[in-house]
Amino acid sequence: MVRISSLSPGEVRKRIEASNQASYEGRAQYVCWENHALRSDYDFIDCPCGPECWCKHRGCLGHYRIKEISFNQFVDTYLNLWTPKNARESIKSAVFTGKPFRGRQRNAIRALNSLRGNWSAGLAKARGCNKCGLCDPNISLEGSVTNLYEAKMWSQLFYDVLVPFDTASKKEIKRAGYTTTDFLTMNRELFRDLRRFAEAHGLDVAGIRKLDSPSAIAPSLSSLAGGQPLSGVLDKVFYSPRKKKFTMQIFKLRHHQ
Ligand SMILES: [Zn+2]
Ligand SMILES: [Zn+2]
Repeated sequence: MVRISSLSPGEVRKRIEASNQASYEGRAQYVCWENHALRSDYDFIDCPCGPECWCKHRGCLGHYRIKEISFNQFVDTYLNLWTPKNARESIKSAVFTGKPFRGRQRNAIRALNSLRGNWSAGLAKARGCNKCGLCDPNISLEGSVTNLYEAKMWSQLFYDVLVPFDTASKKEIKRAGYTTTDFLTMNRELFRDLRRFAEAHGLDVAGIRKLDSPSAIAPSLSSLAGGQPLSGVLDKVFYSPRKKKFTMQIFKLRHHQ
């Protein structure tokens, strides 16, 4: 894997399309839940930036910002987006009733519980940010982001600003030469490189959002007024559910011998 800025727009589109295809065929159906989440939990607000901002300079029309939703709704969306179907109910009762849960996704419970105790302030902070990742905004998060469930939670709060990762995509991001030891540094480097890529190929912000086109795979998805979220564009260059399946197959084969 190489940096985004050394790929052509066609190559980036192909990688994102492969990720969408795999996610559409996979059980988690991320591509559908993502569409659903953006329509129910987010506003597309007018771009508030001045002419000095990179985004405005590149014809930016607006940014996605989380709505004034309840913690309950945030958790429902979190579970749909980031966790497998068969674990959702158990994770939910662990968060809301404290029922013990020792599954693979236990870090999700820790992350959601810390957000729960601080929901109004956390939501207000996310809603206080009216920038997108291309603006190179100065964001601070409470504590460091050490696992993928925390990264996914922060990305869901700042959908147009912070890119989530999982174990496989983080490896790919690292192999491409970006910093992965610090979540905010990783995000800054990814977005700066996306800007370099857009400049090299004369893409405006709408053109960047269009690199991701889930409706080409799943025509039943309703198109989003603001286009695709920027975190998704970057994430899908590196994230593939298929790769995970493939790795698991190799793992199984190896362990059959
Ligand atoms: Zn903007
Ligand atoms: Zn801006």
